[in-house]
Amino acid sequence: MELSGKIILVTGGSRGIGKSIVYKCAEQGAVVYFTYLGSQTKADEIVNDLKSKGFESYAIQADASNFQRAQEVIEEILKNHQKLDILINNAGITKDNLLLRLSEEQWDSVIDNNLKSAFNYCKAAIKPMLKQRDGVIINMGSVVGVSGNAGQANYSASKAGLIGLSKSIAKELGSRNIRCNVVAPGFIQTEMTENLPEQELQKWLSDIPLNRPGQVEDIANICVFLASNKASYITGQVIQVDGGMNM
Ligand code: NAP
Repeated sequence: MELSGKIILVTGGSRGIGKSIVYKCAEQGAVVYFTYLGSQTKADEIVNDLKSKGFESYAIQADASNFQRAQEVIEEILKNHQKLDILINNAGITKDNLLLRLSEEQWDSVIDNNLKSAFNYCKAAIKPMLKQRDGVIINMGSVVGVSGNAGQANYSASKAGLIGLSKSIAKELGSRNIRCNVVAPGFIQTEMTENLPEQELQKWLSDIPLNRPGQVEDIANICVFLASNKASYITGQVIQVDGGMNM
């Protein structure tokens, strides 16, 4: 198994892409901690289902935008396992609007939940990783962080910010064997995308050469690869997983 004996933290693991990452990592032998914001029932179901299949996972309620809470989550993992091998910053939200109508609250909230959240967990996680001289960080970006998108100035800026954060970490900590990459999904079928107006949905789909929306497993698979030793020479990269949408 690719991730045997690894201790992993995934933020926002109760639904969608994060949930699939939790499953794939657990199935590859890792002990997987994941956070969620409000979906306690869903989080408990995941933990119980994985346990019934012989895998180990733990759910922690923690708002990813809260700096202090991030420290507490990592401390809890260290108390139990004395190490943290892999951090996957997946938690994220959208609050779309055209810039003319975008409120300060919509801007701040998306930056806090998508970008500051990653800073919070990276900052707390690198301490044990530096001691271990080993660690992997994966930040969940988006193709719109590379290309920009009308109606998503806040979201695109937050995801572009993750690229700068990740490349800086890759440069700062590469010599300590800490790798940091961005996975940038395209259009993936989850609750985040299910309420798009039909016209917008068709526009997204018409731009995808592989002619289908992505599935959560498409993203989870690349996360498992990047987390594994098979990716030991890959750092500072933005891996777009988008069916060819953004070339
Ligand atoms: P989703 O279905 O809406 O799930 C979001 C997850 O993040 C949930 O587990 C949610 O927890 C958690 N979360 C949100 N805010 C949080 C916070 N402040 N603290 C802790 N957890 C929080 O979203 P998704 O589509 O799976 O997206 C996952 C990531 O991929 C996001 O970063 C998103 O920007 C990125 N992405 C998605 C797509 C796509 O097409 N779906 C494309 C590009 C990038 P609760 O269940 O408790 O609310």
